[in-house]
Amino acid sequence: MPSPVLPSAFSNQMLQQLGNTDYEAFLQALSSPTPVSIRRNPFKLKNWSENSDGVKWNKEGIYLAERPVFTFDPRLHGGAYYVQEASSMLLSAVLPQVIDLNQPLKVLDLAAAPGGKSTLLAAAISEDSLLISNEVIKSRYQILRENLCKWGYPNVLCANQDSREFAPLQGQFDLVLLDAPCSGEGLFRKDPNAVNEWSPEHVQHCSARQRRILAEASPLLKPGGILIYCTCTYNEFENALNVAWSQDNLELSPIPLSFPAEWGVQARDFGYQCYPHHVQGEGFFIAAMRQEKHYTVLKSAPTKGFWKNAPRKNVDFLKKWVKSSAELLVLESPHGELAAVPQACADFFQELSPYLRRWDPVLELGALKHQDFIPAPALALSTVVHPNLPNTSLDLPTALKYLRKEVIELPDSSDGWSLVNYEGINLGWVKNIKGRVNNYFPKEWRIRMGGGV
Ligand code: SAM
Repeated sequence: MPSPVLPSAFSNQMLQQLGNTDYEAFLQALSSPTPVSIRRNPFKLKNWSENSDGVKWNKEGIYLAERPVFTFDPRLHGGAYYVQEASSMLLSAVLPQVIDLNQPLKVLDLAAAPGGKSTLLAAAISEDSLLISNEVIKSRYQILRENLCKWGYPNVLCANQDSREFAPLQGQFDLVLLDAPCSGEGLFRKDPNAVNEWSPEHVQHCSARQRRILAEASPLLKPGGILIYCTCTYNEFENALNVAWSQDNLELSPIPLSFPAEWGVQARDFGYQCYPHHVQGEGFFIAAMRQEKHYTVLKSAPTKGFWKNAPRKNVDFLKKWVKSSAELLVLESPHGELAAVPQACADFFQELSPYLRRWDPVLELGALKHQDFIPAPALALSTVVHPNLPNTSLDLPTALKYLRKEVIELPDSSDGWSLVNYEGINLGWVKNIKGRVNNYFPKEWRIRMGGGV
């Protein structure tokens, strides 16, 4: 693989950062293939095969020998795994070093799309914790929401706001993750566009924006709350200097982390850096800090809620659709759609959601229409869907037809609603009416790419 043509200012900066020998090794790594890695959903896939090549710092992550066309694996659409660059999975080794994950936590992923770290967080936190996963750009927000619905954890809300709009939630969170928009130097091997967009001016622009978001993120923490800051760049202006600035200006104190030496993660002055010549992954920086200041919780007028608590008598029929162990707070929209959050984190939900301007629950349940309940796609993919509902296994060609939202035939199915699955991973709903199968896969999520079988 040819090495990407690097801007000379970038090369000089890396030469200075790494020294001659290490810089040569760095350049060599850039001309070798990008590792392909995926992380399993622990709820949906019990394990990988025994001879899988595991990611050292994440027990759910593995490397693949080559990149398949993921679109044509129905298990990806069912949320059985997430395609995630391996260095980013280092977050899972940081979390237990900085916070007790068995406690009920209020967690905010402030810059979350497309959802790699939010899916990791959702699987790492306890069932009585609540994750708010936020993205400012509308189109990216839709992708984030889709990925989180597919991942299927119900204790997650998606928000679509600018970081500054979280100000009313000052002093609330145990953990805030800021995976900041950055110059993307760490992705030069994987994404040639990142090279074209790079310039010293762009780095300065990113650095200033990161400081702005850091200043907005820090007051959202409770006293003693944890801020994890990460980027996919090597740049000192975006990494070390911004962490140092946060410590000087935002009363955040550094938390030292430790990783086994054989992982190859490099300790730097103000955080930890993955380089592609030391780890099997791309460039990534991570630092953790503790909030020392006491920010009082603001009492601003809550926003008018779109979702209201649904009266219990109206939702008794849900017992058929939701597994009995799932205790849910059911919500109802003005249009009669139903959604839910687990009772275990309902208090957190009631405290935080009124102060969000634009948000959606991840666990949409469905809607009542002329006495029939139309189940939502998110319910089929969630961890709470009733395990005894009719469920039809599809072979690969039929599963791909289903995911393309084409007409499928299921000769032996009885009338009514049924889940469909591929290799035990739920994909969505169909409704059989007298031998005709109505495909309820959402059209926005359908496969548009040709080929596959
Ligand atoms: N954490 C994501 C993951 O693991 O998949 C990647 C996040 S990406 C590095 C940064 C994201 O932050 C982008 O999607 C960008 O649109 C979003 N963003 C940028 N400025 C923001 C702001 N002020 N508030 C919220 N999100 C922002």
